Formats: sequence, C-alpha cells, structure tokens
Amino acid sequence: MKPAAFEYVVADSVEMAVASLAQAGGDAKIIAGGQSLVPMLNFRLLRPSVLVDINRIPGLAHVREDGNVVRVGALTRHHQLETSPVIAAHFPVLREAMAHVAHLAIRNRGTIGGSLSHADPAAELPMMTLLLDAELRVVSAKGARTVAARDFFRDALSVDLAEDEIVTEVVLPKLPNTGWGFAEVARRSGDFALAAVAATLTLSDGKIARARVAMTGVAPTARRVTEAERLLIGQRLDDGVDSDVIEAVRAATEPPTDLHASSDYRRHLVGVLAGRALAGAWGRA
Ligand SMILES: Cc1cc2nc3c(=O)[nH]c(=O)nc-3n(C[C@H](O)[C@H](O)[C@H](O)COP(=O)(O)OP(=O)(O)OC[C@H]3O[C@@H](n4cnc5c(N)ncnc54)[C@H](O)[C@@H]3O)c2cc1C
Repeated sequence: MKPAAFEYVVADSVEMAVASLAQAGGDAKIIAGGQSLVPMLNFRLLRPSVLVDINRIPGLAHVREDGNVVRVGALTRHHQLETSPVIAAHFPVLREAMAHVAHLAIRNRGTIGGSLSHADPAAELPMMTLLLDAELRVVSAKGARTVAARDFFRDALSVDLAEDEIVTEVVLPKLPNTGWGFAEVARRSGDFALAAVAATLTLSDGKIARARVAMTGVAPTARRVTEAERLLIGQRLDDGVDSDVIEAVRAATEPPTDLHASSDYRRHLVGVLAGRALAGAWGRA
C-alpha cells in the first residue's frame, strides 16, 4: 500500500512546526524518524492531510548535561542515546535499554520524541522515562508546558499531547550512587519486548533506601510498580528477591494474549525478569 495523498511541510523551526499543526486544525501529523508513522500511513491506518517534517529543525537533537539533569532533544536518534558518553556516564541503564530497541537501521532513524509520542505498549523508552522520573517539554502555538512522564502515558498509543503540540525535550534528573538492572525477553533480537523490566536501587547503610521498578510489554502502557518499590525499602537482596516483591510486580500487570505469547506466560515472565533486574541492580549498588 501507498499512503493517501498529503501536503508535505518541512519545518525549519519549532514555531513553524506548531503553526503548521495549528493551521491544519487537527488534521496534521508530525514526522520524525518515520519508523512507526510511515507504516501506519502505508496501511492507511492514518490519513493526515498534512505531514509536518521536523527533521531539519536545528537544536532538537542534543544530549546535554545541565546541573542536576541531562537534557535530551526530541529529535535525538535511538543510536545517539545508545552511544552518548553523557548517557553512559549518568544513565547506564538507559544505554543498556537502547540496545534492545529494534535493529540498528531503525535506531539510526527513530527518535526519542517519536517513541514517547507513539507510546507502543511494548516500547522501551516509555518505561525508561517512567523509571528515571523524566519530564517532557511540550510546545504549541499557545505556549510551552512541562509534563511528568508518569502523567504522559494514558493508554496504548495514547498520550497527553494535543493535536497542535510537539514534544521538544526530555529532561532526565541525574541518579548518582545508584545500582541498575535491566532484563528483557523478545522472540528475536530487535523485536518488541514480550516483557521487560528495569530497576534502580540506592543504598544507605547497606540497605535499600530507594527503589524504582518499571516494566513494559505487560499492560496497555509501561508502568512503575510502586508496591514492589515500597516492599524493597530497608531490604538487602543477598539471598535473592523476596517472592512478595515478585508477586507485586505480577499483580501490577494486565498482559495481553497475542500471536507471540499468552497473558499467563507474560505474567510469569515479568516476575522472572524483575528478579533478574533487581539482582543486577543490587550487585551494582
Ligand atoms: C521493525 C521495527 C521494530 C521496532 N522495534 C522496536 C522495539 O523493539 N522497541 C521500541 O521501543 N521501538 C521499536 N520500534 C519503533 C521505533 O523505535 C520507532 O522509531 C519509534 O517508535 C518512533 O519514533 P520515530 O522517530 O520513528 O517516530 P515517527 O514514526 O516519525 O512518529 C511516531 C508518532 O509520533 C509522533 N511524533 C514524532 N515525533 C514527535 C514529537 N517530537 N512531538 C510530537 N509527536 C511526535 C508522530 O506524529 C507519530 O504519531 C520498531 C519499529 C520497527 C519498524
């Protein structure tokens, strides 16, 4: 299939992009890496009358330290995140996750803004922004706002983004002296996750003082598992992860049954992966 006809606008500034979106009155789509949008156009699942290309807007593809945070431009490609020395230094868990996103050819084009805005239920980046308590900067012709990742993801392929808004930046608070772990299972290398879990642990006096656990592939959106995080406080994991923590992770899922795996299998798997991610985080912490 080929896409339905559309008008093609190459924006050279954020102002031009949001003005084009506003002018189209809800009938325009942003195109960034095109790795999710173009298949949807070709299958005619989407038929926007205007496509606003943001690839040539300068200043949207940075990974930059700024005091206690790292700022990532919305046009930053997945491969840039995977290879950035700033990400390696401050968020090794994110670097690890990026190696699991699709194939290199797709990582060379796909962008963080596109992945978050598309919000595939099995994508890694929504999970990672939840894990890292990220904030998204969102701009429209009416002004700018900041939205926490925890408020951004609403449902499968549905986010807190109006038709005339674009994501311009993702802000990641640094997380010093923290151990991390990541575990994923996919049918083949580069496939979307059947399930994945990312965790961080911060210790005080040899015990867990702060825990973060996030998962993807097992619910309509990526999720944090606050009950598991609460149970982990004050623990040591020398003898493994308690079964009540694993069960809290499983209880927070709503896994789909599809062509690739049953709901029961995914629920079992995510518990196993939580154990592995937390063991990794404990070892590093
Ligand atoms: C074969 C294949 C395998 C894949 N496997 C994985 C995987 O394992 N894990 C994974 O996470 N992803 C995977 N992907 C998806 C890939 O990561 C995409 O790059 C990503 O989901 C979308 O990013 P993009 O820049 O290509 O966005 P686009 O396709 O350009 O856009 C996607 C959507 O986001 C909107 N959008 C884009 N940028 C912005 C912005 N700045 N502000 C507002 N809206 C915006 C668009 O309008 C569109 O609705 C896979 C894709 C393919 C084709």
